Amino acid sequence: MTEERLSFQAEVSRLLDIVAHSLYSEKEVFLRELVSNASDACDRLRYAALTQPELSAEDPNLQVRLLADKEARTLTVADNGIGMNREDLIENLGTIARSGTAAFMKSLKEANTEGKKDVNLIGQFGVGFYSAFMAADRVEVLTRKAGEAQGWRWLSDGKGEFTIAEAADLPRGTKIVLHLREGDDEYLEEHRLGAIVRKYSDHIAIPIVFGEGEDAKALNSASALWTRSKNEITAEQYKEFYHHVGHAFDEPWLTLHWRAEGALEYTNLLFVPSTKPFDLFDPKRAHRVKLYVKRVFITDAAEGLIPPYLRFLRGVVDSEDLPLNISREMLQHNPMLAKIRAGLTRRVLSELNKKAKDTENAAEYATFWENFGAVLKEGLYEDYEHRDELLKLLRFRSTAGDGLVSLEEYVGRMKDGQDAIFTLSGEDVDSLLRSPQLEGFRAKGVEVLLLTDPVDEFWMPSVGVYDGKPFKSVTRSGADLGKIKGGEEEKPEDKAPEGELVDLLALLKLTLSDAVKDVRKSERLTDSAVCLVSDDNDMDMHLERLLKQHKQ
Ligand code: ADP
Ligand code: MG
Repeated sequence: MTEERLSFQAEVSRLLDIVAHSLYSEKEVFLRELVSNASDACDRLRYAALTQPELSAEDPNLQVRLLADKEARTLTVADNGIGMNREDLIENLGTIARSGTAAFMKSLKEANTEGKKDVNLIGQFGVGFYSAFMAADRVEVLTRKAGEAQGWRWLSDGKGEFTIAEAADLPRGTKIVLHLREGDDEYLEEHRLGAIVRKYSDHIAIPIVFGEGEDAKALNSASALWTRSKNEITAEQYKEFYHHVGHAFDEPWLTLHWRAEGALEYTNLLFVPSTKPFDLFDPKRAHRVKLYVKRVFITDAAEGLIPPYLRFLRGVVDSEDLPLNISREMLQHNPMLAKIRAGLTRRVLSELNKKAKDTENAAEYATFWENFGAVLKEGLYEDYEHRDELLKLLRFRSTAGDGLVSLEEYVGRMKDGQDAIFTLSGEDVDSLLRSPQLEGFRAKGVEVLLLTDPVDEFWMPSVGVYDGKPFKSVTRSGADLGKIKGGEEEKPEDKAPEGELVDLLALLKLTLSDAVKDVRKSERLTDSAVCLVSDDNDMDMHLERLLKQHKQ
C-alpha cells in the first residue's frame, strides 16, 4: 500500500508551531514524556496479556530501550508494549486527545487574551508525545500492535501534516525515532540520557536500558516507587511520580503513602493536587487513581475504588488480595474493593482533618478548600457514614471577616438566644455582602455564613442540623431576630405608629397582589425599606433561581 498523507487537527498544528519555535529551557522533558508513554504502553500490554497470554508470549520481558546513533544523529525510544495500529496512530498522534495538552492549550489561550505569550507553560504541563518536536525536526514512529500482523510507519516534520504507510517486519511495540535538531547532540550522550531518566523516570517499574545486546545498561532502579520504603524516597521523586501517574503538572498539595496490613493488604500512594483540574465538575470525569494488583496495572477507571467526592485524588492503589485475572467489569462488584475504599476514605479524611486543624498553617488548608471544598461537600449527602468527619472539614466565608470559619467556630460565636446557624446563598460573596437581608443581623452582631456553591442547596437540607442547631436561611420569614440579644436596641421614637403600619401593609398587599404571597413587617432591616423573603415552607430563593436557570 502507498503512503497516506494526513493533516493534523488544527489545534495540534498550532501547538507544534509553539513547541518548535519556543526557546524552551527545560527541553529535556521530551524524554520524560516519551518514556512515560512507553511505560504506559507496557502496562497496557501486561494487563491485556492477563486474559490473552499469547499477546506477550514471544517477548515477555517488558522494557524501554534508548538507542543513540551518533552518525545519523537519531535518538530512539523503543518499547515492546501494546503498540498502535493505523487507527490508533491517527487518533493518538494527530489530535489532542490528552487532557494535559488540552489544558495547556486552554491556559495558553487565556495567557494570550491577557496579552502575555506564556510558552513557559509547556514545562509546567508537558505536552505529551508532541514534545518530541522540541528536540527533533523529524519524528518517525514505527509500531506494531500486539496481536496484529501489520506494522505501520508514521512520519512527520511537525509542520501541519504527517504520513502513514505500512511497514514490514516490525517487532511488537513502538519505536520513536527522533532526528535531532541542530545543536541538540547532547541527547546522544549516555550520561546525559541517564541523568534525565534518573531525574524524571526513576520511579518507573520496568527497566529503562541504554544500548543493545552485551553493552546494554540499566538507567533506572526499575522498582515501582510505592513499593519502596518512605525514607528511601525523596520529595522530588514523589513529585515526579505524581506528575507521571496523575498526568499532573503542579506540586502535590498532600502526599499520602501507606501500607494497610491485616485482613486485606494494599499499598496506597495518593496525592491531593495543589491546583484545580479544569474538568473537576465535568459529569464524565472519573477519579484518576490507578489500580494495580501485585504490581500489575489493572485499570485507571475502577468504579467504586474512590468515592466520587474524593475524585480530586491521584495516585495508585496496589492490592495483594484481588485476583490478577479480574475483569474491569467484575471488579465493581468485588467486596474487597469496597473494603479498600472504606479504609482509604477513612485515612484520607483523617489526614485532611489534621491539615484543617493546623491553624498555624491556615492558608495552606484554605488553598485546598478553595480548590476542592465544593467537591467534598457532595459527600455530605452521598456518604452518610463519614458525615461527621466531613462536617469538621467544612469552611465558610461569613459576615465576620475575610477569613474562613468552621462550623465549630461559628457555633462558638453564636449570640445569646440565637438558636440557628444563619446562612445566605447567592452567586458571589461580594454581592451577598451588599444584601439588605443582612442589615438586621449586622445590627445585632449576628454572624451569617455566605454560601456560593450550588451544592450548598443540596447538602444543607440533607444535613439539617449541626450540633443541635438547624441551618436557616436569612431569606426565610421565620429567621427571627427578636429573641437574639445584642446590638443597639430600638429607641421608641424609631417605631412607626402601629395604625399607620397596618394601613401601609394593606396598601402594599393590594398593589402587589399576585406578585407576592404576603407583606409583613420585619425586624431584619435597618436601612433598606423592604426586602424579599421566602415563606418558611417554600423553596429557598437562591435555589428557586438556580432551578429556573436550569429550567427545572
Ligand atoms: P497521554 O500519554 O497523556 O495520553 P501523549 O500525547 O503522551 O498523551 O500520548 C498520546 C497517546 O498516544 C497515548 O495516550 C497513547 O494512546 C499513544 N501513545 C503514545 N506513545 C505510545 C507508545 N509508545 N505506545 C503505544 N501508544 C502510545
Ligand atoms: Mg504521555
